[in-house]
Amino acid sequence: MNSIETLKYYFGYDSFRDGQENIINAILSGRDVLAIMPTGAGKSICYQVPALMLPGITIVISPLISLMQDQVKSLNEAGIHAAYINSSLSENQISKALSLAAQGHYKIIYVAPERLESSEFIWFAMNVEISMVTVDESHCISQWGQDFRPDYLEICTLRNYFPDAVMLALTATATQQVRSDIILNLKMKNPRIFISSFNRENIYLEVQLKRKGITQIVDYLKKHNGESGIIYCFSRKQVDELTKDLDNMGFSVLNYHAGLSDEIRAKNQDLFIKDKVQIMVATVAFGMGINKPNVRFVINNDLPKSIEEYYQQIGRAGRDGLPSSSLLLYSSNDIHKIRYFFDETCDVQKAELLLQGMVNFATTKNCRRKALLSYFGEIYNPEQNENTAKDCCCDICSRGQPELHDVTIPMQKLMSCIIRTNQRFGAMYVIEVLLGSKTKRIIENRHDKLSTWGIGKDFSKEEWLELVDLLISENYLRKSGEFNILEITETGKKVLASRAEVKLPFTKNAIRGFPKKSTTYGNNFQDGIFVAAKRIVPEKPAINDENAEKIVESLKTWRKRKADDLNIPPFMIFGDKTLLDLAAKKPMNKNELLNVYGIGKAKSEEFGRAILQIISDIVTS
Ligand code: ADP
Repeated sequence: MNSIETLKYYFGYDSFRDGQENIINAILSGRDVLAIMPTGAGKSICYQVPALMLPGITIVISPLISLMQDQVKSLNEAGIHAAYINSSLSENQISKALSLAAQGHYKIIYVAPERLESSEFIWFAMNVEISMVTVDESHCISQWGQDFRPDYLEICTLRNYFPDAVMLALTATATQQVRSDIILNLKMKNPRIFISSFNRENIYLEVQLKRKGITQIVDYLKKHNGESGIIYCFSRKQVDELTKDLDNMGFSVLNYHAGLSDEIRAKNQDLFIKDKVQIMVATVAFGMGINKPNVRFVINNDLPKSIEEYYQQIGRAGRDGLPSSSLLLYSSNDIHKIRYFFDETCDVQKAELLLQGMVNFATTKNCRRKALLSYFGEIYNPEQNENTAKDCCCDICSRGQPELHDVTIPMQKLMSCIIRTNQRFGAMYVIEVLLGSKTKRIIENRHDKLSTWGIGKDFSKEEWLELVDLLISENYLRKSGEFNILEITETGKKVLASRAEVKLPFTKNAIRGFPKKSTTYGNNFQDGIFVAAKRIVPEKPAINDENAEKIVESLKTWRKRKADDLNIPPFMIFGDKTLLDLAAKKPMNKNELLNVYGIGKAKSEEFGRAILQIISDIVTS
């Protein structure tokens, strides 16, 4: 079998994804390879397919125990003999696995890095034919990366035992420095380097200004009813509170953060992966090593600390390639929350730079995909890409150019009020003065006597807050210090002094003279408030008739039962895309079954009869 036949036979896929075939060909020709591919791009296939074609065993070194176990289960389901060796096994189990491996039972063996030094493993490695060594998460070998693992340095010692094996290093993150470290520390021989595009075109990118309360999240969840998703929050406390609120409202939700016991974390994760709970509310602690392909949305309830972090989190959506979405809720208050936790242990200058990159992304007025990819040094050119030419799948492009409104007068009122109160107060206080409040503090400070007291009653509090955020994103205002004091920047002072007209994409219609409905916003601007912009995303396989819908539903029920019986997540039986393709193609026999996306030989043998029966029952009823 050649590589494409192997892909079809075992995994049921018809074609390779971007980059996979070139990487596989290089490995098969005996070259060492460093492959840099984003999460979800399909790194595993890059070693699994050649492993099946090479004569000897492939060793995969991976730091993530849970991922190893998942991979082995998935491979076994696909009819491939694989095993793992890590600390979750007893010494006895390890000896047994190695002795079976030595007898040629396994084509692929996953090994945790700390096992490489054990004499038992070395003995094994010296006595079998090893064709390839794959180093997953290979950035762990670099002291420049955040995930440095000293154990990884053992890998090159190991290679001395089988110098002829090819080496494949995989990673999703690689700066030039990390890349050189990988090549050097792994002693790669004249490696070929492949870098895939970081564009995950099936993930819709959206940012909304964060309003108080959880209505934005609730609205979003209602729109994504029945789908699996992750909501990231900044702190453990926020995670717990949001989980409780959503649970009280009847959503299927659990929490995950480092403050929970190992046992509860593992349990919550398992329920989420097995589709028994739909929504996971979590801190950054959640996600590493989770390979759930049908996560349909990721919400960032707070600003991530860097674009890298944001990209990694939204990348957990849509690994199966089906349309998925991400929503970042942005408020300038988040910036201060993040800064507050900068401490001596981190390089403040670097952290500030990373944060600024994230803020720029959140406040950009241009295509978000372009902004995101340009951060990774990639030029996004939709015209060249047939699939994305129609739409880039971000809120800004979907909405069209926003209409700008003259905010000169309200901006002057706001800035004057900031100046009259001596640039010593936060946004809420300044707004209360503008609204003419008589709070104790305002009266004590005698700010009810100011000329700017009560001059802003034509706006609501929320509208003023939105204007503050917009002016901050334009760098006319900034919040400073521990108490988020509003200050006017140099640029802001210049604008104020020159009395220049300022136009911004203010979304509210309360300013007198603002149009009730805007033609430029099209359907997205209703009664002065944005509703979700129309989304144009890559299409799902068509399900075209009533039977098709019934087939998908019945297959889902069957899949859930089967997964429970086998104690594996439903996606390990078949992904959603396979169910949709089954419903569209309605195969009637085993041969037709093999034409379906994601059904290879082993799965058609194991599950074929049951599926054909379900389909034929519906079609002939
Ligand atoms: P990564 O390790 O790069 O994050 P994975 O190897 O987990 O990504 O692959 C992500 C998903 O894409 C998996 O569900 C995998 O089965 C699927 N996949 C990989 N290659 C292909 C392909 N050529 N055709 C269809 N699906 C693929």
